[in-house]
Amino acid sequence: MTNKPSSSLTTRIVIAMIAGISVGSFLQWLMPDQSDVVVPLYLFDLSIRGLLVDGVFEVVGKVFVASLQMLVVPLVFVSLICGTCSLKDTTKLGRIGGKAIALYLITTAVAISFAMSLALFISPGEGVNMVANTTFESREAPSLAQVLIQMFPSNPFQAFAQGNMLQVIVFALLFGISIALSGKAGERVASLFEDFSVVIMRLVTVLMNIAPYGVFCLLAGLFTDVSIETFGNLIKYFLVVFVALVLHATVTYPVLLKALTGLNPLIFLRKMRNTAIFAFSTSSSNATLPITMETATKKMGVKNSIASFTVPLGATINMDGTAIMQGVATVFIAQVFNVDLTLSDYLMVILTATLASIGTAGVPGVGLIMLAMVLDQVGLPVEGIGLIIGVDRLLDMTRTAVNVTGDSMVTLIVGKSENQFDEEVYNDLNAGQKIEDIDFSDLKHN
Ligand code: ASP
Repeated sequence: MTNKPSSSLTTRIVIAMIAGISVGSFLQWLMPDQSDVVVPLYLFDLSIRGLLVDGVFEVVGKVFVASLQMLVVPLVFVSLICGTCSLKDTTKLGRIGGKAIALYLITTAVAISFAMSLALFISPGEGVNMVANTTFESREAPSLAQVLIQMFPSNPFQAFAQGNMLQVIVFALLFGISIALSGKAGERVASLFEDFSVVIMRLVTVLMNIAPYGVFCLLAGLFTDVSIETFGNLIKYFLVVFVALVLHATVTYPVLLKALTGLNPLIFLRKMRNTAIFAFSTSSSNATLPITMETATKKMGVKNSIASFTVPLGATINMDGTAIMQGVATVFIAQVFNVDLTLSDYLMVILTATLASIGTAGVPGVGLIMLAMVLDQVGLPVEGIGLIIGVDRLLDMTRTAVNVTGDSMVTLIVGKSENQFDEEVYNDLNAGQKIEDIDFSDLKHN
């Protein structure tokens, strides 16, 4: 371990983000509309797009996301088992689960109501003349009974293989409870899992150290092909969603946090920086899960017994940012197609979007699939999604950052209310920073 300045990794990640966006935007300017620049060299012609965008950026970016995803199932399984075993009284699980689920659903409903009000006020779709040129198939919203049945895995290994997070959570909880009930044998298994947990968390920190390269390549690749100039008619829609997302993260969350815990919300926002950048770069709450977990436990001081449960649950069922996009999109599409929605339609949208977010994994673009369900419920044309799909990538990145911020906030509230929280760690601005900086020369010393 080194004694480097403690903020160095965070600084490197922020620099990587800015550099990635700048390089990508420069390449976008140099090669608009997916064109290419070919540099003739002595022996061969060098394609900038082939070498950088489809080469280095694509490979490093994809490898980085895959390595994060690789950790998700083992991390959730192992830390949830440790969390359940360490709860002295496993009957508390029901109360913790109830609080977390209620907070997740309420914040999502607040988010979508706020987003729809803002959209109705600004009317981003009024006077817009657009024709949908993409077709979109809607899926049926799952019923509550279906969601409940599907939470129980008939084969846990299949749940692991498919990364079905709710099923993994249920299996890990049952397994953890049984360990706690198994006396001496249970203690031996529990201590093995504690060791596994240390090793897996170490792997997370190892990956954090290559994160600046991953973040740079992901963002440079994305910004080469995303251009704000082409947004045209959609700029108003884009801005309404964007502003609603920013307000939700910087006003609603801090106010809620302060009101429910009394903690300083500025510290919370500051500590969320790294996690939000990961979410922004990967567009996936799931892939960001290892980082959210590390931030919640090591930087914010929430005990693993709570975070191991609420963070994966949040990555799966809590999508405030996604709900915000869906609220604005519904209003926008209704305005473009000149459909008047009634109050009960709006309530229906809130209900469907909140329920649809349960059981839908946090992966890129899933918000649009859920939007199809929402539109269907109120009789709006699902093809409307074709109108907004062009600007969805950037919004997906931003809303994912909001989604993980919501997961962390609820984790903090539940942790504090259950007394499973260390306020000293929370208030220490350098908490958790040192372990992020791994000196690989340690390997030689061991
Ligand atoms: N990408 C989002 C997430 O992973 C979900 C979505 O809105 O598409 O949280």
